[in-house]
Amino acid sequence: MGKPTGYIEFQRLSEESLPVAERLRNYKEFVLHLTDEQAKIQGARCMDCGIPFCSSGCPINNIIPDWNDLVYRGNWRAALDVLHSTNNFPDFTGRICPAPCEAACTVNIIGDAVGIKSIEHAIIDKGWEMGWITPVLATNKTGKKVAIVGSGPAGLAAAQQLARAGHDVTVYEKNDRIGGLLRYGIPDFKFDKSNIDRRMAQMQAEGVTFRTGVYIGRERDQGVNNLSVQTIDPEVLLADYEAVILSGGSEVPRDLTVPGRELSGIYNAMQFLPQQNRVNAGDVLPEQILATGKHVVVIGGGDTGSDCVGTSNRQGALSVTQFEVMPRPPEQENKSLVWPNWPLKMRTSSSHEEGCQRDWSVSTQAFLGSNGKLESLRAARVEWKDGKMSTIAGSEFEVKADLVFLAMGFVNPAQKMLEAFGVNKDARGNVQANTEDYRSSIPKVYVAGDMRRGQSLVVWAIREGRQCARAVDEFLMGSSLLPR
Ligand SMILES: Cc1cc2nc3c(=O)[nH]c(=O)nc-3n(C[C@H](O)[C@H](O)[C@H](O)COP(=O)(O)OP(=O)(O)OC[C@H]3O[C@@H](n4cnc5c(N)ncnc54)[C@H](O)[C@@H]3O)c2cc1C
Ligand code: SF4
Repeated sequence: MGKPTGYIEFQRLSEESLPVAERLRNYKEFVLHLTDEQAKIQGARCMDCGIPFCSSGCPINNIIPDWNDLVYRGNWRAALDVLHSTNNFPDFTGRICPAPCEAACTVNIIGDAVGIKSIEHAIIDKGWEMGWITPVLATNKTGKKVAIVGSGPAGLAAAQQLARAGHDVTVYEKNDRIGGLLRYGIPDFKFDKSNIDRRMAQMQAEGVTFRTGVYIGRERDQGVNNLSVQTIDPEVLLADYEAVILSGGSEVPRDLTVPGRELSGIYNAMQFLPQQNRVNAGDVLPEQILATGKHVVVIGGGDTGSDCVGTSNRQGALSVTQFEVMPRPPEQENKSLVWPNWPLKMRTSSSHEEGCQRDWSVSTQAFLGSNGKLESLRAARVEWKDGKMSTIAGSEFEVKADLVFLAMGFVNPAQKMLEAFGVNKDARGNVQANTEDYRSSIPKVYVAGDMRRGQSLVVWAIREGRQCARAVDEFLMGSSLLPR
């Protein structure tokens, strides 16, 4: 274990961030990883508590106490190996995972959790800086071909695992760059896209082929990002490959169909955020939705809403307001009731710190404007009783709004491709498959990530990609040495 008395002696350390005024000037990552000494002290705080609840709180079951101890002892190389044994992409999770492991940390019962995510971030950055991360080549080639549809974290994790097991893997992506929501959605200031590019290079060296700009399906869905130039019919794919994994994410946004929805100036978050990603990548867009000099209202209090806040502030919005229909959560959870589970509590993101009016228990009633253009929105306060919402009479108010971003989550995957494959769906429109074999109702078609579980997290997508890869390997070879 780390230092036996470490959790008593040392405080939790937060990673340093660049000052707000400085980071608002650009779209660069602004969270700095811990220094070696800081990471060592943080590792020393791990109690090695016997039952590592952190590991079960982590969806990929990272072996957290082991790498905490290794970092404490300065054995970074071994820490990196342990980290990679359960996680293909700690460079993704070390930056943008909400860290359910920390909620489950035993030190969290009596104080501040070990800074697990910050240690993960420090280990993986050290790994890249030292040149320790190189392609891992398969020892034998199997001659089996696997197609993966979608290059988000689920598709990438599955592809890497299967290539390392010796299969010929091709990843098809309808957008012009790989990465899924990591590329087009999550802002660059939270997650620099070079993190994807260097993994892509590693995977290409491991034998993975990436084909971008290719839509798998027949008809296209309206209203989801699609930069594809070529279409491949599922039947052609099934004829060419011994197995196919669908990892196309959950792309259909939840809409707000109140009066005035047709006015110009109202967009869903995924019309807005990817445009800024593309501009940052050097693309020239014919037109860009810009918050510059505008009063912006973001509807939806989650991560996607928060990303709209951060992006609007960087573009120079006059004001940014964020509404959430649920009540304001408590500042602190009752740990004795909820630990080791993920608690409902007030969370303030780095984007909120950069400037935003937040309001809770607010429901939007109508969008108002003239000449087809949005000018304001009318909202009302609501109260919640036994899980039911009711509007408080007389509580209506109006807010000036030139631009509204709808960030109320995603309903389900785009449906057209699923119809073209003919897979069975669950009640929510996701592809039906269990987490034992990730197998769809169509022979040799598997599914992983948000396309199976619904809108979720990067770390869950990595877990599903890894587990699905093992299921496919077993199907192809009769048994598998890949970890689940
Ligand atoms: C704005 C935003 C911010 C987020 N922030 C965070 C965060 O900070 N931390 C976190 O953990 N999670 C975050 N999430 C959630 C997280 O990004 C997703 O849960 C995760 O990316 C899902 O991974 P996936 O591989 O299943 O799908 P995706 O990442 O959605 O990737 C699916 C890919 O499949 C492609 N595709 C779909 N259909 C086809 C087709 N027919 N043919 C070819 N290609 C196809 C899509 O173009 C896409 O590239 C965020 C989500 C959003 C929208
Ligand atoms: S992947 Fe997320 S939950 Fe797992 S150890 Fe890292 S920060 Fe914690």
